[in-house]
Amino acid sequence: MDLFEYQGKQYFARYDIPVSPGGPADTVDEAVKEANQAGYPVVVKAQVQVGGRGKAGGIKLADTEAEVREHAAAILGMDIKGHVVKRVWVEAASDIDEEYYASFTLDRAAKKHLLMLSAEGGVEIETVAETNPDAIVKLHIDPVDGLDSATARQACVGAKLPDRALDGAADILVKLYRCFTEGDCDLAEINPLILKPTGEVHALDAKVTLDDSALFRHPEWEVFGATQELDEREMMAKEKGLQYIGLDGDVGIIANGAGLAMSTLDVVNQVGGSDIGGGANADVMAGALEVINFDDNVTSILINIFGGITRGDEVAKGIVEAMGRVDLRAPIVIRLDGTNATEGRLILENAGIPEDELRSEPTMLDAARAAVSIANEN
Ligand code: GDP
Ligand code: MN
Repeated sequence: MDLFEYQGKQYFARYDIPVSPGGPADTVDEAVKEANQAGYPVVVKAQVQVGGRGKAGGIKLADTEAEVREHAAAILGMDIKGHVVKRVWVEAASDIDEEYYASFTLDRAAKKHLLMLSAEGGVEIETVAETNPDAIVKLHIDPVDGLDSATARQACVGAKLPDRALDGAADILVKLYRCFTEGDCDLAEINPLILKPTGEVHALDAKVTLDDSALFRHPEWEVFGATQELDEREMMAKEKGLQYIGLDGDVGIIANGAGLAMSTLDVVNQVGGSDIGGGANADVMAGALEVINFDDNVTSILINIFGGITRGDEVAKGIVEAMGRVDLRAPIVIRLDGTNATEGRLILENAGIPEDELRSEPTMLDAARAAVSIANEN
């Protein structure tokens, strides 16, 4: 679950990471109230889960109540890269001497946590990685050892942070690491981490992704869940008990098992995908097809089933039944393998569905090629 900046900052504050005083506002009047409370000058910041808000006009400084009104009115309702701003965060403005970057993630390949730290913050880290990769310090942390302040300080020295920022930055890194581990984050990122003229170091932005698998031990996450923006397709899937991930692209994918769904995505690239889980009966299949069908970008549907618990004949019956119930906007290409695949293919063949509505391919790669080629024609 991705948090909005203001929620990320609230989460940071629990771990004692310094953030500016401020508050969320859904209306201009609320924004003024928060500004008066925080003290001028303030920054009015659009709360959308997309980067580059500043450049898009979603972050404005305000010196007076009148300016808060003006900026909040302009930013609320603004469309930033397809995200409509419903809430702003108003906080006391900071004076900035320097902007840094700091983040913790899990490096699955190394089986360790990864700290990335750079003196070049305030810009997308991907850009720094491209133009000046040496400016990023990468430090693997063994979860058993954790991160102590001496090691954190060394990382800051390695990233060429100035002497006067070292203590403050190292202190925040240790706290951010605690937030990342104890707080069960997949990502804890501060960009920019700022150095103020006073020498204080401080989180000016917050990007936090919580690990949904840890939800059971964080009842306090419920408030975050309530504000999550599921897209329409995802809500529809949720109602049907399906695992669905809405993506851009034109091949709709249905597979059994999240792993297979992901590798199918890899093979096809650029698609929306749905995982129908273990029991693929007619209802489940019809549900998955309805969700995929709802997305009018989809011009071909790829069903990739490797039957284990999922039985090929059940899947096939499901598809035939579902095709009778759902008026599909796009043709289906299916790869059916594993348990009872032969029986399944026979059911499909005997169903008398025309070739241009349903076609079967022997391998995942063949099926992906066929689905992509159909999508390209349409
Ligand atoms: P993002 O661009 O969406 O990641 O939004 P950020 O919260 O990172 O802000 C973008 C930029 O706006 C920062 O890098 C700062 O340069 C600027 N900014 C944000 N808050 C303040 C502030 O309190 N004071 C000043 N002077 N600049 C700010
Ligand atoms: Mn930022």
